[in-house]
Amino acid sequence: MVAKVAIDLALDRLFDYEVPESLEKKLAVGQLLSVPFGHREARGFAMAIEDGERGTGKKGFRLRPVTAIVDETPFFSPALLELVRKVAAYTAAPIESVLRAALPAAVLKRNARARELLFVEPLTTNHSALTTNDYRLTTNHSALTTNHYALPATPRQKWLVENIARLGGGWMTSLCRELGTTPASLRLLAEKGLVRVEARAKRRNPLAGRRILPSKPLALNDGQRAALEAISRLEQSALLLFGVTGSGKTEVYLQAIARELESGRGAIVMVPEIALTPQTVQRFASRFGDRVAVLHSALSDGERYDEWHRIRSGAARVVVGPRSAVWAPVRDLGLIVVDEEHETTYKQDETPRYNARDVAVLRGAVEGAKVVLGSATPSLESWMNVKRGKYAIAEMRGRAGAGTLPSVRLVEMRRDGDGERSGGGIFSAELLDAIRRRLVEGEQTMLFLNRRGYSRSVTCEACGAAVECPACDLPYTYHRADCCLRCHVCGGWTHVPERCPACGAKALSYRGVGTQRVEAALAKCFPRAKVLRMDADSTSRKSSHDDILGAFRRGEADILVGTQMIAKGLDFPKVTLVGVLNADSSLAMAGSDFRAAERTFQLVSQVAGRAGRSDLPGEVVVQTFDPSVPVLGYAARGDFAGFAADELKVREECFFPPYCHLAVVNLSAPDARTASDWAAMYAASLRRYAVRLGDGGRGLVVGEALPSALEKADGRYRWQVVMRARSAGALARAWRWISAARPAPKGLRAGIDIDAFNLV
Ligand code: ADP
Ligand code: ZN
Repeated sequence: MVAKVAIDLALDRLFDYEVPESLEKKLAVGQLLSVPFGHREARGFAMAIEDGERGTGKKGFRLRPVTAIVDETPFFSPALLELVRKVAAYTAAPIESVLRAALPAAVLKRNARARELLFVEPLTTNHSALTTNDYRLTTNHSALTTNHYALPATPRQKWLVENIARLGGGWMTSLCRELGTTPASLRLLAEKGLVRVEARAKRRNPLAGRRILPSKPLALNDGQRAALEAISRLEQSALLLFGVTGSGKTEVYLQAIARELESGRGAIVMVPEIALTPQTVQRFASRFGDRVAVLHSALSDGERYDEWHRIRSGAARVVVGPRSAVWAPVRDLGLIVVDEEHETTYKQDETPRYNARDVAVLRGAVEGAKVVLGSATPSLESWMNVKRGKYAIAEMRGRAGAGTLPSVRLVEMRRDGDGERSGGGIFSAELLDAIRRRLVEGEQTMLFLNRRGYSRSVTCEACGAAVECPACDLPYTYHRADCCLRCHVCGGWTHVPERCPACGAKALSYRGVGTQRVEAALAKCFPRAKVLRMDADSTSRKSSHDDILGAFRRGEADILVGTQMIAKGLDFPKVTLVGVLNADSSLAMAGSDFRAAERTFQLVSQVAGRAGRSDLPGEVVVQTFDPSVPVLGYAARGDFAGFAADELKVREECFFPPYCHLAVVNLSAPDARTASDWAAMYAASLRRYAVRLGDGGRGLVVGEALPSALEKADGRYRWQVVMRARSAGALARAWRWISAARPAPKGLRAGIDIDAFNLV
């Protein structure tokens, strides 16, 4: 027998080992093995076991034998290994990098183990002996190893034993605290055979100390019931649960999971890391109690180790976590939920660059599990999959709980307005008015600053237009290194013009308004208002994120200013006004992000969802330089289908996703010359390769080599080549071809990002 082993060396190949007779019966795929590698021992996963002739490899070499099985319980089920293989192939990533991503490091650490603490267990037989009057105990052979004769128990010891029995035993440290005694006294009880003290695994529980009140299923409304039935009947590869913010998607997830649990199957719920707040976790833990395992980045290694093992053993049946949760070793998986499926945080931005939403769909197919993708603003990829009949859809239009959808108003901004009164051109008169009314009524306001796109593009302070590539009608990206503007689609470039090409004003600017400037402007306009600010600066301390939100929820401030990071998954009943200060800045998104309109739609919808969550009606004011921009109109009307239809036309004409798959080939080197030369050579070689492929030029479309927007980082010069193709497989094949045909020299790093979100 021959074992094919993946060793964590980024070599992207499997190594063959002979399976010694002593291990033949025990060896299984997915196990962690210890194998000789060069002059040392290495660890690796058994990916496959083949009936090869013992001891010889393909070319007749003698194979070296597997040294040992590190853990007989496989870390990966055969289904998960298949998923790993598929993801490695799709993302063109080394298989061992996918294995590493699929398993928490905390589980593989050499010293990782369950925590053992001393547990004091009552011994019922002796307890009954204690109830006799003379306090003399009879021998208990099962409990006593040293004492084979009866010992007297003092009244105090009798009291202790009775209380330990009443509590059903407990951890030594907590019993000492509760009963006011010492470990030595408890050990003495054990010596007398009155209790048993033993080391037991004590779960490191991420939810310990949290008060979790059980919750009951709500009576579903019609839309929710229809959605739940559609999920139960699901036969396609996935279902898109398209429901506005507050339409009760989470309740649908909860009840769909409950059905799976009833029939003995488990579930995974993925949420974007930023939405993995205590409130979110609470909702699942309240419904399913100890059957829930939580996985997120703030867990300690010990907690992560324990949660992972609880999942693998089947003790936990419902996993809640961010993108890495898609790999959770849930047994008999019945359902995977991807909440906010459009979120970019599902994409891992290091190798392997997988999108957990897509992995979820793959896993559903591999394991026969249902997949539900939830969103108020679906990605156009998923929307298109619905249109093509690949995914089913269930729609929920109204709010389920309290509140109604807020009214959204677009307000035109002018830079030439009254500077002082408008807080230096930040606020429109309408927004100022609306804020003033909230202050009078004692209601709260949230103001969002759209930070996407700023500083990467050049916009006109007078008309708001971004400087665009005339060939592609997409904003140029500003490259500070050589002060020029580049188009990241066609590779065209120009110098920064002196005047705005749209209105002629000499007012081009590289930087946008920051939250601090908004805060200062508010202080001028409303000196007595209490303002809280939340952005990357103010939230660098670990807890301050929750601190700020907590203070705002308690009504300790009138206005909360923040970037779009405060738009997600939050529920503030007293917020009746939401303002978006610069809705169109994400349209000026540099990096020629072809998804700019989609992101803007998502942002405005998400932000609008924050207003009017209770009985108080909500109002949303969206400021823009150009209210005629179609995407803003669609967003204000909450018309996703209309927006999607328009945007898909553009994407189709320009051959952008979802009509193609797009990949960025990244190259970097310590010197500028190597990086640019190799990028140019890659682009040229890939283009010749594409010509050979044929297919009317759409089999593979290769762009020009161009420097990344962040041209120099970590002392390395970075270049890129964008490729597009109808199938993702064509991109992976092109990459495998060029990395074999033109192996990178020392110092050069090359990688590919298939289905990239960032083009810069
Ligand atoms: P979503 O996940 O779509 O944003 P939620 O599940 O958070 O929506 O629901 C929004 C609010 O509506 C929550 O407070 C929830 O408790 C409430 N809710 C959901 N479903 C119902 C229902 N069937 N009846 C009453 N209230 C509901
Ligand atoms: Zn262009």
